[in-house]
Amino acid sequence: MQISVKTNARTQMIDITSQVKQTVKETGIRDGLVHVCSMHTTGAVTINENADPAVESDILKTINRVIPFDDNFRHMEGNSAAHIKVSLFGPSELIPLENGSMVLGTWQGIFFCEFDGPRTRRVNVKVIPG
Ligand code: ZN
Repeated sequence: MQISVKTNARTQMIDITSQVKQTVKETGIRDGLVHVCSMHTTGAVTINENADPAVESDILKTINRVIPFDDNFRHMEGNSAAHIKVSLFGPSELIPLENGSMVLGTWQGIFFCEFDGPRTRRVNVKVIPG
């Protein structure tokens, strides 16, 4: 099953936890693993704090400083910074599912990370029973 995520900035972290929860619920599977995977080479999936929005802005500020948008990259499309960020963050996360609930810590949320927006993105959610 796929989730659609609309981003509205060049780099952005969007909390998709509730959409993932809803998708998992619709499968009817109550135990196993939830695989959440970005279907893009310039957008990642990560798990981090979703209580204080300052965490998102600090992460983006830092990653954009470490990997600048323009650094004489060779890739003709001009978005190498986004490709590099995705390789560092990784495209997916795997979350345990127990008794119908994803096992996440109190402050943990699932984020789609936009690194070359704004765009409409797709995230695949696969529940592996077990
Ligand atoms: Zn590219």
